Amino acid sequence: MGVEVLLNIAVKDYDGQKVYLSNGSEIPAKSFIWSAGVKGQDVRGLDGSVIAKGNRIVVDRFNRIAAANEVFALGDIALMKDEDYPNGHPMVAQVAIQQATNLAKNLVALQKSHSLTPFKYKDLGSMATIGRNKAVADIAFFRLHGFIAWFLWLVIHLMTLVGFRNRVVVLVNWFLSYMSYDRAIRLIVRPFNLNVSRRG
Ligand SMILES: Cc1cc2nc3c(=O)[nH]c(=O)nc-3n(C[C@H](O)[C@H](O)[C@H](O)COP(=O)(O)OP(=O)(O)OC[C@H]3O[C@@H](n4cnc5c(N)ncnc54)[C@H](O)[C@@H]3O)c2cc1C
Repeated sequence: MGVEVLLNIAVKDYDGQKVYLSNGSEIPAKSFIWSAGVKGQDVRGLDGSVIAKGNRIVVDRFNRIAAANEVFALGDIALMKDEDYPNGHPMVAQVAIQQATNLAKNLVALQKSHSLTPFKYKDLGSMATIGRNKAVADIAFFRLHGFIAWFLWLVIHLMTLVGFRNRVVVLVNWFLSYMSYDRAIRLIVRPFNLNVSRRG
């Protein structure tokens, strides 16, 4: 699809004309789109020792923040290291969902003075769609791409929606978009306040 992936190279600088890379090479580019991931919000009052790379908050296996015993963090913002994930878990929805379920049970256990269950991530696989009939899927021992992976992506996303009505509505929308090639414009539009704009 005309995409060239450069591994183990970081962007060092950009001056409006060229992108400078860590291996010394340069890419001439008048347009440059930066999409290097998300960063956690600063949480004031937390001990600096629990803030790690990307502003993630270091937690123990129970999602407890070390320096603040009764404060918990989960999902993208939490950095939990274990033997399988020495650099923390990937920032994906499944980690957040599974940590939330485990933490909810642990909070109940805490109230009842029962022992806590350490979090263990169950990797259900990864899928990504990159457009019409194109996707990749990495599930257990299967690695799929193209139409089959795209179809699987549709089925799994449909099945994980809550409620029969939601599934039907999404399915009909997808079908109409697929047949018409029409994509709704993804803008968030607010009502325009004439009085404010005249004064301003
Ligand atoms: C473009 C994009 C595509 C992605 N695609 C996938 C994918 O295909 N599959 C997948 O598994 N994961 C995907 N992810 C990652 C996934 O979205 C995250 O891993 C997941 O949402 C993490 O859940 P979370 O609850 O930890 O954080 P979030 O879902 O980010 O929720 C945090 C919430 O906290 C709110 N918040 C922040 N600061 C404050 C504050 N000070 N006070 C109150 N509220 C606050 C935010 O507004 C947000 O609603 C994608 C992420 C991005 C950005």
